[in-house]
Amino acid sequence: MEETIFDKIIAGQLPSDKVYEDENVLAFRDINPQAPVHVLVVPKKKVKDFIEIQHNDVTQTGIFFNTVSKVASLLGLEKGGYRIVLNCGEDGQQTVEYLHAHILGDRKMNWPPG
Ligand code: 5GP
Repeated sequence: MEETIFDKIIAGQLPSDKVYEDENVLAFRDINPQAPVHVLVVPKKKVKDFIEIQHNDVTQTGIFFNTVSKVASLLGLEKGGYRIVLNCGEDGQQTVEYLHAHILGDRKMNWPPG
Protein backbone atom coordinates (compact mmCIF):
# COMPACT_ATOMS: atom_id res chain seq x y z
CA MET A 1 0.00 0.00 0.00
CA GLU A 2 1.25 3.46 -0.85
CA GLU A 3 2.34 5.65 2.02
CA THR A 4 -0.10 8.45 2.74
CA ILE A 5 0.00 11.67 4.70
CA PHE A 6 -1.77 9.85 7.58
CA ASP A 7 0.97 7.17 7.72
CA LYS A 8 3.43 10.03 8.22
CA ILE A 9 1.29 11.71 10.88
CA ILE A 10 0.97 8.43 12.82
CA ALA A 11 4.73 7.84 12.51
CA GLY A 12 5.36 11.36 13.87
CA GLN A 13 7.10 12.40 10.63
CA LEU A 14 4.51 15.15 10.10
CA PRO A 15 2.97 17.34 12.80
CA SER A 16 -0.70 17.20 13.74
CA ASP A 17 -2.98 18.80 16.29
CA LYS A 18 -3.74 15.69 18.33
CA VAL A 19 -6.87 15.48 20.45
CA TYR A 20 -6.63 11.81 21.49
CA GLU A 21 -4.16 8.95 21.19
CA ASP A 22 -3.88 5.41 22.50
CA GLU A 23 -2.16 2.23 21.31
CA ASN A 24 -4.79 1.60 18.61
CA VAL A 25 -6.08 4.94 17.44
CA LEU A 26 -5.02 8.53 16.76
CA ALA A 27 -7.38 11.51 16.51
CA PHE A 28 -6.27 14.91 15.24
CA ARG A 29 -7.84 18.10 13.89
CA ASP A 30 -8.48 18.35 10.16
CA ILE A 31 -6.18 20.85 8.45
CA ASN A 32 -9.14 22.25 6.46
CA PRO A 33 -12.04 22.20 8.94
CA GLN A 34 -15.59 22.02 7.59
CA ALA A 35 -17.18 22.71 10.98
CA PRO A 36 -16.08 24.44 14.22
CA VAL A 37 -15.05 20.98 15.41
CA HIS A 38 -13.58 18.75 12.68
CA VAL A 39 -11.47 15.85 13.86
CA LEU A 40 -10.13 12.85 11.95
CA VAL A 41 -9.83 9.47 13.66
CA VAL A 42 -7.47 6.85 12.20
CA PRO A 43 -6.58 3.31 13.25
CA LYS A 44 -2.83 2.92 13.84
CA LYS A 45 -2.88 -0.47 12.11
CA LYS A 46 -3.41 0.53 8.51
CA VAL A 47 -6.75 -0.04 6.79
CA LYS A 48 -7.10 1.41 3.30
CA ASP A 49 -10.78 2.22 3.27
CA PHE A 50 -14.23 1.22 4.49
CA ILE A 51 -14.48 -1.56 1.86
CA GLU A 52 -11.54 -3.32 3.52
CA ILE A 53 -13.31 -3.41 6.89
CA GLN A 54 -15.37 -6.49 5.93
CA HIS A 55 -12.12 -8.49 5.57
CA ASN A 56 -10.62 -7.28 8.81
CA ASP A 57 -10.57 -8.38 12.40
CA VAL A 58 -13.91 -7.59 14.05
CA THR A 59 -12.29 -6.69 17.36
CA GLN A 60 -10.04 -4.10 15.74
CA THR A 61 -13.00 -2.67 13.86
CA GLY A 62 -15.00 -2.54 17.08
CA ILE A 63 -12.20 -0.78 18.91
CA PHE A 64 -11.98 1.77 16.11
CA PHE A 65 -15.67 2.68 16.16
CA ASN A 66 -15.83 2.57 19.94
CA THR A 67 -12.99 5.10 20.02
CA VAL A 68 -14.65 7.36 17.45
CA SER A 69 -17.64 7.53 19.79
CA LYS A 70 -15.38 8.17 22.79
CA VAL A 71 -13.46 10.96 21.02
CA ALA A 72 -16.71 12.70 20.02
CA SER A 73 -17.72 12.70 23.69
CA LEU A 74 -14.29 13.93 24.79
CA LEU A 75 -14.74 16.81 22.35
CA GLY A 76 -17.93 17.78 24.19
CA LEU A 77 -20.25 17.01 21.28
CA GLU A 78 -22.67 14.68 23.09
CA LYS A 79 -25.23 17.32 23.97
CA GLY A 80 -25.71 18.97 20.58
CA GLY A 81 -24.98 15.88 18.49
CA TYR A 82 -22.57 15.59 15.62
CA ARG A 83 -21.93 13.89 12.29
CA ILE A 84 -19.61 11.01 11.48
CA VAL A 85 -18.47 10.82 7.85
CA LEU A 86 -16.61 7.98 6.18
CA ASN A 87 -15.80 8.91 2.60
CA CYS A 88 -15.07 5.78 0.58
CA GLY A 89 -13.42 5.55 -2.83
CA GLU A 90 -13.57 7.94 -5.74
CA ASP A 91 -17.32 8.57 -5.82
CA GLY A 92 -17.30 8.93 -2.05
CA GLN A 93 -14.67 11.70 -2.43
CA GLN A 94 -12.07 9.87 -0.37
CA THR A 95 -8.84 11.77 -0.98
CA VAL A 96 -6.52 10.00 1.49
CA GLU A 97 -6.26 6.22 1.06
CA TYR A 98 -6.13 5.47 4.75
CA LEU A 99 -9.35 4.74 6.65
CA HIS A 100 -10.44 7.77 8.62
CA ALA A 101 -13.65 8.85 10.29
CA HIS A 102 -14.49 12.55 10.22
CA ILE A 103 -16.14 13.88 13.37
CA LEU A 104 -17.93 17.12 12.53
CA GLY A 105 -19.71 19.15 15.15
CA ASP A 106 -20.58 22.38 16.91
CA ARG A 107 -22.87 23.50 14.10
CA LYS A 108 -26.14 22.33 12.57
CA MET A 109 -25.44 19.96 9.66
CA ASN A 110 -27.28 19.92 6.34
CA TRP A 111 -29.11 16.97 4.85
CA PRO A 112 -28.76 15.50 2.29
CA PRO A 113 -24.98 15.91 2.15
CA GLY A 114 -23.68 17.09 -1.21
P1 5GP B 1 -11.23 12.50 2.75
O1 5GP B 1 -11.64 13.46 1.67
O2 5GP B 1 -10.19 11.53 2.26
O3 5GP B 1 -12.40 11.85 3.41
O4 5GP B 1 -10.60 13.39 3.89
C1 5GP B 1 -9.25 13.69 4.00
C2 5GP B 1 -9.15 14.83 4.98
O5 5GP B 1 -7.81 14.96 5.37
C3 5GP B 1 -9.60 16.18 4.41
O6 5GP B 1 -10.67 16.68 5.19
C4 5GP B 1 -8.34 17.04 4.52
O7 5GP B 1 -8.61 18.37 4.87
C5 5GP B 1 -7.52 16.32 5.56
N1 5GP B 1 -6.09 16.47 5.42
C6 5GP B 1 -5.36 16.34 4.28
N2 5GP B 1 -4.05 16.52 4.54
C7 5GP B 1 -3.95 16.75 5.88
C8 5GP B 1 -2.85 17.01 6.74
O8 5GP B 1 -1.68 17.05 6.34
N3 5GP B 1 -3.12 17.21 8.06
C9 5GP B 1 -4.41 17.17 8.55
N4 5GP B 1 -4.57 17.38 9.84
N5 5GP B 1 -5.47 16.92 7.76
C10 5GP B 1 -5.25 16.72 6.44
